[in-house]
Amino acid sequence: MTAGVQVDDALRDRLLTVRSGIEEACRAAGRNSDEITLIVVTKFHPASLVTQLAELGVTDVGENRHQEAQEKAAELSDLELNWHFIGQLQTKKAKQAAQYASAIHSIDRAKLVDSLAGIDHTIDAFLQINLTDDPGRGGASPADIESLTERILETSTLRLRGVMSVAPLEEPAESAFERLAGYADRVRALAPDATSISAGMTHDYPAAIAAGATHLRIGSAITGNRPDAR
Ligand SMILES: *Cc1c(COP(=O)(O)O)cnc(C)c1O
Repeated sequence: MTAGVQVDDALRDRLLTVRSGIEEACRAAGRNSDEITLIVVTKFHPASLVTQLAELGVTDVGENRHQEAQEKAAELSDLELNWHFIGQLQTKKAKQAAQYASAIHSIDRAKLVDSLAGIDHTIDAFLQINLTDDPGRGGASPADIESLTERILETSTLRLRGVMSVAPLEEPAESAFERLAGYADRVRALAPDATSISAGMTHDYPAAIAAGATHLRIGSAITGNRPDAR
């Protein structure tokens, strides 16, 4: 905690609103909110916003661009936050990302797994699965789930936590997350400890909770609109 951090009232309110939305969705789904990790996605926002979030008790933040994440994590190393890398990751940047990220949610190909085999510590790994037919969206094809799961399990520097997905724009989140739950079962059949599901963003997190998500990645509902249009 940093003494004397001025916290924006609107930011506090939005965080409280999302936290109560998570409680409500858990109640509706008959789940305990203790099972849920809230990752606040801070991409495009300055380090000062992350400092305020830490002051508000946030422990986990998510970033999707390596260089930006690396800079913020270095600037804020005193805060002891868990940095989650959630964006598409170039193979040649993977080792660098593993220096600040405690978890990489976007593991989607064998080359990326192999490039993380050489790091000198262990990080959490999520197997990202593409819920669309468009390979450009990121994520492994469902056909590759078993082979990638095996490959991660053979890599001692990676602790496989479970699956990760982004819901497609062109489909109701409910059916997409239902499919993801089935993919999560396939991973768990090979890796019984990989029980996590990283899913749920600003507009679909209640549906993700209903479908069993354990790690929510929520940005704009908490941070407000991102400074850069995207
Ligand atoms: C930006 C982003 C989020 C958060 O999106 P919001 O709609 O702002 O909540 C979650 N996951 C990934 C992979 C992202 O890139």
